[in-house]
Formats: sequence, C-alpha cells, structure tokens
Amino acid sequence: MIVVFLGPPGAGKGTQAQRLASEKGFIHISTGDLLREAVKRGTLLGLKAKEYMDRGELVPDDLIVAMIKEKLPKEGRVILDGFPRTVNQAQALDKMLEEINDKVEKVILFEVPDEIVIERLSGRRIDPKTGKVYHIKYNPPPKGLKVIQRDDDREEVIKKRLEVYRKQTQPLVDYYRQKGNLEVVDASQSPDEVYREILTKLGIS
Ligand code: ADP
Ligand code: AMP
Repeated sequence: MIVVFLGPPGAGKGTQAQRLASEKGFIHISTGDLLREAVKRGTLLGLKAKEYMDRGELVPDDLIVAMIKEKLPKEGRVILDGFPRTVNQAQALDKMLEEINDKVEKVILFEVPDEIVIERLSGRRIDPKTGKVYHIKYNPPPKGLKVIQRDDDREEVIKKRLEVYRKQTQPLVDYYRQKGNLEVVDASQSPDEVYREILTKLGIS
C-alpha cells in the first residue's frame, strides 16, 4: 500500500509519518531526510543536492527519481513524504509502480494556511540522533535533549520554499484529483486531530 503525503513544507507531514511508522507499521520514506543523510555522509548525491537545498530549490528530478528507485520497498505499507514534488516525478513514480503492478493508493493533501506553516517552520527543531521532529512551542523537546535547527528553516529560505511549492508542487493536486485518489486533510488542527483524520481517510482503525 503506497500512500503519498502532499503539502507545503511545515504542514506536519513528517510528524504524522513518524507516528504512523511507529504505531501502524508504515515504512516512512522522506526524500528530504534521505538527502540530508547524503549531505551528512558527503556522498556524490549529497554534494550535488546541497546547493539546491540551501537555496530552498528543488533538487533535479533525475537525481530524486534515481534515489527513490533504489529505496522504494517492494511491499508493505509505505508513506512517501515529500515525494513526488513535480508532475515529472509523479509520472516517473506511476511508471515505476506500473512495472511492478502497483499504484499509489491514496494521496493525503495537508491543507494549511501560510501563516501557520511559517510559524511551524521557524519553531521546528530536530533531534540529530534520531531525526525526530519537535517544535519549541507545540511539541517541545524533552529537557536536556540537544536539538538542532535545519539550515533551510531560516526566514529567507522558508519564503523561497513556499514559492517553489506553489509553482512546482501544487499542480500535483490536480494531477491526483483527476486520478481520483486525493484526500484532503485539515492540517491546521492539533497533531492528534490530524492523525485521526488521516487514519479515517486511509480506512485504518
Ligand atoms: P513537514 O514534514 O510537512 O515539513 P513537520 O512534520 O516537520 O512538517 O512539522 C513542521 C513543524 O510543525 C515541526 O516543528 C512540528 O513539530 C510542528 N507541527 C507538526 N504538526 C503540527 C500540528 N498539527 N500543530 C502544531 N505544530 C505541528
Ligand atoms: P523536506 O525535508 O521535504 O522539507 O525537503 C528539504 C529539501 O530537500 C527541499 O527544499 C528540496 O531542496 C529537497 N527535496 C526533498 N524532496 C525533494 C523532491 N521530491 N524533489 C526535489 N527536491 C527535494
């Protein structure tokens, strides 16, 4: 079962995917996490991707599609978080899945206004050891845990990422609506409420 999480940066996709992974056995594939890992390890992909990520731009489709081809599990419940992000990537994914007689089962669109997204991104903190996501106000890290701020969660880059989302990723809403597997979730609610809504839309109890 392949589920795509679609929505602007900071909508809460990673937060929800981490919970679905720990409570419902989903395999969480975040292209952002994979790229940050590649940057940290200094691989060729990491070196190529870093300049785009630092500017808040999308990493070229061919690099992303090659990375997903390598990481996509053949079975199990899978959440794709942050992929696809362009129509070109979505078509490549469809083709990839067609070859193994599979398809995207559901696309969950995280709907949330820009003001909320900006507040969430500016307060986001990460545990560098586990990758777990926190927020200084809405989900504060445990006392004593050393957390870090992502390089691209700075005001100028946040603005750019939202612009990139609107131009390059939002067209996917129509792409999936036409396919008939789009489910819209009100992501401005509390994490628990969003979680419940996602479970309902996926038909999982
Ligand atoms: P995305 O993966 O879509 O970029 P994240 O899951 O990293 O978004 O969430 C962005 C920030 O907002 C994080 O700091 C997270 O703790 C916080 N957050 C996520 N969901 C909610 C929510 N429903 N209400 C308030 N804060 C949230
Ligand atoms: P994220 O962690 O999803 O916010 O992604 C962080 C950054 O990684 C983005 O701003 C892009 O530069 C890059 N990135 C992640 N996923 C993709 C993708 N599917 N296509 C292109 N670039 C991506």
